[in-house]
Amino acid sequence: MKKIKQSWAEPYKIKMVELLKMTTADQRKKAMKDAGYNTFLLRSEDVYIDLLTDSGTSAMSDRQWAGMMLGDEAYAGSSNFYQLEEVVREVYGYKYLVPTHQGRGAENILSKILIKKGDIVPGNMYFTTTRLHQELAGGKFEDVIIDEAHDPENEFPFKGNIDLDKLKRLIKKHGAKKIPYVSMATSVNMAGGQPISMKNLKELRALTKKHGIKVIHDMTRVAENAYFIQQKEKGYEGRSIRSIVKEICSYTDGATMSAKKDALVNIGGFLAVNDWDVFEEARNMVVVYEGLHTYGGLAGRDMEAMAIGIRESVSDEHIKARIGQVIYLGEKMIEYDVPIVRPIGGHGIFVDAKKFLPHIPQDHFPAQTLAAEMYLDSGVRTMERGVVSAGRKTNGENYYPKLELVRFTIPRRVYTQAHMDVIAESAARVYERRNKIKGLKMVYEPKYLRFFQARFEKL
Ligand SMILES: *Cc1c(COP(=O)(O)O)cnc(C)c1O
Repeated sequence: MKKIKQSWAEPYKIKMVELLKMTTADQRKKAMKDAGYNTFLLRSEDVYIDLLTDSGTSAMSDRQWAGMMLGDEAYAGSSNFYQLEEVVREVYGYKYLVPTHQGRGAENILSKILIKKGDIVPGNMYFTTTRLHQELAGGKFEDVIIDEAHDPENEFPFKGNIDLDKLKRLIKKHGAKKIPYVSMATSVNMAGGQPISMKNLKELRALTKKHGIKVIHDMTRVAENAYFIQQKEKGYEGRSIRSIVKEICSYTDGATMSAKKDALVNIGGFLAVNDWDVFEEARNMVVVYEGLHTYGGLAGRDMEAMAIGIRESVSDEHIKARIGQVIYLGEKMIEYDVPIVRPIGGHGIFVDAKKFLPHIPQDHFPAQTLAAEMYLDSGVRTMERGVVSAGRKTNGENYYPKLELVRFTIPRRVYTQAHMDVIAESAARVYERRNKIKGLKMVYEPKYLRFFQARFEKL
């Protein structure tokens, strides 16, 4: 008899379905050309399985939908705000909450408050909107992630860790006064959803405390990071996701949150801080950019769904199934020899486009090309995370990131295991004909965050 394995399964069942359109190869060819070979410019109705992002694409629970009916749409003092504030204190432990329409709203306010012109903001790898807000506020981002993070084949389990020597060198070079905070992300998106360890975080706290530097937490995927700590870090085996999440937050001074990811809602975010003075300023500033401090650009019902989603996001069963599905897809890809970032991260599979298409130079956009080819093959929509996403420096030169990746991001609670099979088989088919694939040239480039709207033509 075959050895019986212990499978996981989703801790929910399906109550309602959304029908998908199936397209032909000819339809996809036309759609991709019309979209300028940029998967962001495809119409979603032309997409079969949408792995563009895990942002705002989660399926809400029946409880969250029921919560939507409890929206208190008062302009000021909505009861949903107070509910959300209570949940943020209970689950994350931050004292003061300013809701925002999404994560970047919080980044904008925080950067404006804490960064002065000429400041240095170290962080564990850049994120597009985060770095842009830091730069717009007059700061300069400095990457202090460990070198392992830039090597897609390195199996180190905590590739989101901060290299404390790099940070010490920055402090020595510029002085602590020039460094308002360290921008610390959990489950580092651009490194492939790689976690930071609790040990590293504790050391970061000790070092920054010594120099009077704040730690600001990009907590967009904090629960997913907590899962890796539970699974891989000594001393955390028996601990609940909830308690690990709270411990992570306890080593930081404040956080920006895109609730569209971990927190299982389609829109929403917040800024949370422990410092009353920063909170006071944020509460003033949110009125200018987002809305009154008790709604921050959200409807009351959005805040209610977020509060319920935050509680669901820190359940052990939820996270186990969520990351279990991602790992299932990653292992299928590995079986087909598709080169992916190792170890498998929390929110998606990152295919190494440099290795997949070694004959295409970075100036011909290998990751952008591969994302287009995936869509042409099967209607699966993925996203470029390479030289296009990296954008240009303030002096106009291109950033050439070491990693040239295609992100297969898995929305939470949306697709089935059968969908995962279809995705892996499509990637394997494209891999089989990789030698025939040619690169792209950029024919339109927007000024900011160019990856969203840039257009390309086939070479
Ligand atoms: C999505 C994201 C953001 C920005 O949040 P939005 O809700 O898209 O504005 C910031 N940081 C990380 C790591 C993210 O993934």
